[in-house]
Amino acid sequence: MIIVMQANATREDLDRVVAKVEERRLKPHVIVGTERTVVAVIGDERGAAGTGFETLSGVASVMPILAPYKVASREVCSEPTVVTAGPLVIGGGHVGVIAGPCSVENRDQIIATAKAVKAAGATGLRGGAFKPRTSPYSFQGLKETGLELLAEARAETGLAVVTEVVASEDVALVARYADVLQIGARNMQNYRLLEAVGRTDVAVLLKRGPAATVEELLLAAEYILDGGNRRVILCERGIRTFEAHTRFTLPLATIPWLHARTHLPVVVDPSHGTGHANLVSSMAAASVAAGADGLIIEVHPDPQRAASDGGQTLDFEAFGKLMAVCRRVAGAVERTLG
Ligand code: PEP
Ligand code: MN
Repeated sequence: MIIVMQANATREDLDRVVAKVEERRLKPHVIVGTERTVVAVIGDERGAAGTGFETLSGVASVMPILAPYKVASREVCSEPTVVTAGPLVIGGGHVGVIAGPCSVENRDQIIATAKAVKAAGATGLRGGAFKPRTSPYSFQGLKETGLELLAEARAETGLAVVTEVVASEDVALVARYADVLQIGARNMQNYRLLEAVGRTDVAVLLKRGPAATVEELLLAAEYILDGGNRRVILCERGIRTFEAHTRFTLPLATIPWLHARTHLPVVVDPSHGTGHANLVSSMAAASVAAGADGLIIEVHPDPQRAASDGGQTLDFEAFGKLMAVCRRVAGAVERTLG
């Protein structure tokens, strides 16, 4: 349920409400908005029956939360969440761009890419150090050495580092280097991993599983939010369908659908969503036109030699062109790229 506080409620009123929620063994999430403060009450609401919350001082109203996801829902927080990590701003009219290679391969590759994507206007640097690969024989990433190289690239350019964590036992290590922890599509429903990143205070980019519904994506986000980490970014990266002309099918209706139901920002990954470098720029522009709060794009100095995902990866020149097109589209929908 949602307990909506009156505009003139005092700190003591709020503390009393929170204490009463905890007394019932329910979990209060206090959300302070510019217009009103609400307490989202999570847990088995049978415990809340007959509590009389509405009679407490400072309480304006008590309402059920109808959506199955609670803290993620717009019912709880009508203002869009803006996630910032260093120079990277996702949401609130900013279309933040995260760009970089699929995998961190070596110092020259990651430093050169960081400099090039920054010059083109990206504010986040992506690069996998721990790679979840379909085959156990494919390149699995440089692991901690890769994280160190990402930290060097951040020191050189100031870009925010976005990198994947594939296992709960690696969260503490990856969180020491990352500005944004990426949860990959294959791990969207790894609930112990979601709980582990939910206990950190590092922003999280949560990718949609290729066979997950958007409602399941929101429930996965709920695990992170329920752990106390409110800095969650959703990412549409395409789903598996019968269609074979692209690596995945990239549904852009996800963006306005999510915006209507959640306050969390939505990023699109047209690299994995299409699997073909020549389709990436068009789908990036379409994503911005449809209201995306950010883009994540694979870029490499020499895509043909990339250790992973070369076929969907842009070179520096193509990325520069993508940015020029997306900047114009962002302006047309009253947003700013970068
Ligand atoms: C990636 O970003 O390189 C990646 C592995 O993406 P996904 O989890 O969406 O497949
Ligand atoms: Mn990739």
